[in-house]
Amino acid sequence: MTKPARGSLLGIENLTPAEISAYLQLARKMNPQKPKPLLKGKRVFLLFYEASTRTRSSFEVAAKSMGAMTTLVLSSGSSIEKGESLLDTGYTLRAVGADVIVIRHPEAGAPLLMAQHLDIPVINAGDGMHEHPTQALLDAYTILKHKKTIKGLKIAIVGDIYHSRVARSAVYLLTKFGAHITLCGPPEFLPDLATTLAPGLQITRSVEEAVHGVDVIYVLRVQKERLGGQALSVNDYIARYQMNAARVRLAKKDAIVMHPGPVIRGMEFTWDVADCPQSVIVEEVRNGVPVRMGILAKALGKAK
Ligand code: ASP
Repeated sequence: MTKPARGSLLGIENLTPAEISAYLQLARKMNPQKPKPLLKGKRVFLLFYEASTRTRSSFEVAAKSMGAMTTLVLSSGSSIEKGESLLDTGYTLRAVGADVIVIRHPEAGAPLLMAQHLDIPVINAGDGMHEHPTQALLDAYTILKHKKTIKGLKIAIVGDIYHSRVARSAVYLLTKFGAHITLCGPPEFLPDLATTLAPGLQITRSVEEAVHGVDVIYVLRVQKERLGGQALSVNDYIARYQMNAARVRLAKKDAIVMHPGPVIRGMEFTWDVADCPQSVIVEEVRNGVPVRMGILAKALGKAK
């Protein structure tokens, strides 16, 4: 197997806690208000085969603020629509001068494949149901703004875990740092074998049990685009798993409420809870910028 290009960030699963801490440390050194032109002259390509608002725009802002040039390539309107393969698209972007490719793709493993065939770093901005490493890093960064350490934190992850790359990357990261995680959702979104994802995971089907006494409530969207025709009883889901004020009150008083976005109000959250005082959802988005500044700087060998 070919080694991925140096500087690539493909997932959290294979990173050591020291490598993760280094990314977080780097993010803390980045100042989005007064960015240093670390990436002057560099070309950052954003290759998105799936919809994105937060990840795409924050990578773009991060890259541009450090002086890089960015080019956005979407699957619709590009030769991908004509049937060009993933690797041929990668070779094309390289040929026009890409120094790094940030890729989101519906298939797990697409960023790895690209990183194995190109001589430039590849950053995974979400691959199918596999990983979303930059989200996990910005979430850890956000948690550490509110809590002294991740070790020993009680964290409930509630919702569509099975289809969620965010949940996978979060579980890998948070368990590496000693958090106690309870996963909660109906069997179709949380199969029993989810406990094999990482050591020490707990599963419950009761949201009240999941959030009781926790430090962090992490809510996930129902990934309708990945349900593949599977019927979902929305009313039943809402009754059993929707995060409402009464359920949030079961957590610790200083618990924080998180969500990777996009939030579907009225579905995984009642309308008000997404904006409750404990919600750090907007902060997660904001923190995406320094975290991705650090990731790009590291990928391009410009991190001090
Ligand atoms: N934005 C996240 C992702 O791309 C979560 C979501 O879409 O629900 O995976």
